[in-house]
Amino acid sequence: MALKLKNPPGLSNRTITLPSAGYPYRAFPELRGGQINVKAFTYEIESLMFGATGDNTAKQYAKLCLLLNKLVEWPRGFNPGELLEGDSTFIVMTARALTYPEQYHTFETTCDACGEQESHNLKIPDHLPQNRYPEDFRGYATYTTFNENVLDMRFLTLNDDSECLRMSRTRAQKNIIDSDAQDNDYQLNRLSMALITANGEKPQNLEEARGFFKEMPTDERDEIIRAVRLNAPGLNSRLTIRCPKCNEMYEAFIPITMDFFRSRSRTIRTELPGGVRIGVPGPDQRSVSLNGTATEGHAPDSRRNEGGGSQGPTGGTPAPLAPAGANGPPAPPPPPKTQPSIVQTS
Ligand SMILES: [Zn+2]
Repeated sequence: MALKLKNPPGLSNRTITLPSAGYPYRAFPELRGGQINVKAFTYEIESLMFGATGDNTAKQYAKLCLLLNKLVEWPRGFNPGELLEGDSTFIVMTARALTYPEQYHTFETTCDACGEQESHNLKIPDHLPQNRYPEDFRGYATYTTFNENVLDMRFLTLNDDSECLRMSRTRAQKNIIDSDAQDNDYQLNRLSMALITANGEKPQNLEEARGFFKEMPTDERDEIIRAVRLNAPGLNSRLTIRCPKCNEMYEAFIPITMDFFRSRSRTIRTELPGGVRIGVPGPDQRSVSLNGTATEGHAPDSRRNEGGGSQGPTGGTPAPLAPAGANGPPAPPPPPKTQPSIVQTS
């Protein structure tokens, strides 16, 4: 007979709205609006997480897909590899927060102007700014670089990223590229995979897109990588901080993902259609509460709200800006030392 836990707890779970609001998954009506239920880690899932390090990327990808299959009940036929990268990170971070509700992420930032160091204590994902897209998003953003190149680019899925890695590894193994150049080649693949049109023309194939980006000056290419990264649906790891000592504003990145960029933005102009919310503060604010009402996060463009206000499954009315933690558990956590500011990049 198995030992029994006193008051066996039900597995914690939370209904969230995916940062993409489901726009890439239109073949699955159940994912319309992007509302899904995420479960906390079990012992089994946690064991999977511990094994997820190491350099075998193909294996890591398989584990991530397995993990996503265990955290969420997906519609029949849906492959988690089709998730946007930002959606998948958001799911894993949410599950992690459900599993360890008291855990904070601690890091230091340094003021650009006076060098003052400040330590921060944030709950992830709830205290991070988020990039949220409407469910009727057209699927790509338009970027105009400082050399007047106009690029339509989409956001990558886990499968896309896995394919970009695979191609670079193959090139290195066949000595087509030096193994030191593998990461550069991988970044080039990612850009090329995301490219829909360049100055109005569609690339014939991936190789043509690679050729285009290879010809481009490195600083221009890096700016595009950065702009795409800052606009991708999901957690936005850029914080704008006002220095308590000299009162200057500076930007800091929270190292929650593998690659983050230190360079300063120059002159990329980004066009995003209505309804996109970049750097929205606070937790997922469109989740359904127990009494069945939905609340809406703060939208810079108040004419539209996630495109789901009238057609969403909940049909709730938008609420005014709620501070982080207002919809949370009965005892809200102390506010973060640095409240993320709303950053508009357009
Ligand atoms: Zn300062």
